[in-house]
Formats: sequence, structure tokens, C-alpha cells
Amino acid sequence: MPAVKTPTARAGHGVMLTHPDRIYWPDAGITKAGLADYYNAVWPRMAPFIIDRPLALLRCPDGIEGPRFFQKNAWKGMNAHIMALDDPQGTPPGHLIGIHDLDGLMGLVQGAALEIHPWQASCHDWERPDQMVIDLDPGEGVGWASVIAAAREVRARLETSGLMTFVKTSGGKGLHVIAPLEPVADWAYVRTFAHTLAQDMAADSPDRFITTVSRAKRHGRILLDYLRNQRGATSVAPYSCRARPGAPVSMPVSWAELDALAGPAQFTVGNAMERLASRHTDPWADFHAARRPVP
Ligand code: ATP
Ligand code: MN
Repeated sequence: MPAVKTPTARAGHGVMLTHPDRIYWPDAGITKAGLADYYNAVWPRMAPFIIDRPLALLRCPDGIEGPRFFQKNAWKGMNAHIMALDDPQGTPPGHLIGIHDLDGLMGLVQGAALEIHPWQASCHDWERPDQMVIDLDPGEGVGWASVIAAAREVRARLETSGLMTFVKTSGGKGLHVIAPLEPVADWAYVRTFAHTLAQDMAADSPDRFITTVSRAKRHGRILLDYLRNQRGATSVAPYSCRARPGAPVSMPVSWAELDALAGPAQFTVGNAMERLASRHTDPWADFHAARRPVP
């Protein structure tokens, strides 16, 4: 069927999607309109994690099998509901990307943003992160159970420090443990805190963990990536889809259900709505009330 030239589908409130039948994930059969439906459904839970904060995007205009580019700056011709954010310390020229509402998210769908990667700070307080993330990246030969055990260890250590923790699948290979912060400490402080945590874990279990991206040392170990916690760094948003086969999403889960998960890419655009419909409770419902200052 030839692509339609005129806007035909209305998503959200005021965004027209061109080519709604364009297939973004050929293997999973997910179209642009299908992605818009998914984001409409998860919007109430996803919104606080993506509105009013700088976003980097992985854009794939022809879907996951076509060219892709990782984009941090606003672009000419972007949808009118996407905001250009002015970084008060912006050294590279250009504006960053932000959204403020569901139309903004639909604007990202229209722009073929197949992954949404926010900063750990909002643009209400650019210099003080409001969350800290530890990304667990298993090297070759690391079993899923070991990744879960690592996440629980990160949790135990953070809770000892008085921080609350939440966990989500990456939609790729691992898990992300996130601590909601009161935006009090600055970037340098939070980064150092995360670095120290990762180093302590690697020092205590050198056969299980590493903290540097050295390919050789990675085999059989989990990289504790603490570098997502610096100014300008990003990590994929809760509920964001991934530009990978199967249309996986980064799904918030509860600590109690973690052991029952089959793997880090279990949840997809295709099955997420069923999960949302069948569970009354949001496993991250307490996230925003759980903000604590970094000790
Ligand atoms: P996985 O489970 O596969 O590790 P992940 O989300 O933890 O998934 P990646 O998708 O490999 O990890 O990397 C995510 C982060 O790396 C992004 O949030 C971003 O900061 C950075 N990143 C990813 N792709 C690019 C790119 N093409 N250019 C620059 N930075 C990128
Ligand atoms: Mn990772």
C-alpha cells in the first residue's frame, strides 16, 4: 500500500500522525499508530519521568531496520509540541529537547523517536539531579539470576544510605536501579556517591562486578555503570520503547516480582497494555513520595 501523503490519524489531543501505518518494528508488527496507542495508555505513569527534563532521542525514521541517530538537540521542523530547552550552561550551541504534555510525546512519536532518554535532573533545577540510576550491564556469560542478585545488592546498599530504590527492566540486557532524590546535592556530589557505591561493590566482589568499560574484564562480570549520573548523561525512560527486535520496553517492576521475571526484555509494546490492565497497582506508585537527599 503506498504511503499516505496527508495526515490521517489524530493521536493524543492535537498531534496529527503522518503515515500512521508505517511499520516501526517489522518483526513485532508494531506501527507508528500502534506506538501512539501504547504511549497514550502508559502516559499517566510515564509523564513525570519525561516531562520538563532534557531528553535525548534515538530516532529511526524508517523503523528499527533503517538508519538511526542519537539526537540531543532540537531540530528544524520538529513537531510544534516538542519544546526547545535552553540549557543555562549550554556550551554546545543549540537547544535541548523537552516535552510538557501528551501532545509533546505524540510529537516524539511523529518524529520517530523510538527511544526516549532523559537526564537525571528536571529543567526546574538543572544543577541538582532528582534521581540516581545504577545501570547493571551483564557481560557475556552472566546469567539473569546474577543480574537480579546484583540489583538487590545495589538496593540493600542504597537503603543502608537512607535512599529508597525502584527497579525496571532495561528492555535490553539488564536492569536499572533508580533512587528518587530530593534535588539538593549537585552533579559532582551525586556522581561521586554513585561511583563510590559501584567501587565498593566491585572491591567486595571483584569476580562479580566491574566499574570500568573494559571489554576484556567484562566477561562473566556485571558492569556497574554509574556514569549515567553526570550532567548531560542520560538513561532510557521508564516505559520508553527500545529500537530493538520485538519492540521491548523499559518496564518498572516491583522488587517482589523480580525473581519471577523471565528476562530484561520480557515486556514489550505488544504485551505492556495487558500488564497495565491486569495489575491495579503501579509498582512505582510511591516513587515521587520516596525522594530523599543523598547522604
Ligand atoms: P542495555 O540493557 O542494553 O544495557 P541500556 O538502556 O542500559 O540497555 P544502552 O541503550 O546501550 O543501555 O545505552 C543507553 C545510554 O547510552 C543512553 O541513555 C545514552 O546515554 C547512551 N547512548 C546510547 N546510544 C548512544 C549513541 N548512539 N550515542 C551516544 N550515546 C548513546
Ligand atoms: Mn544497560
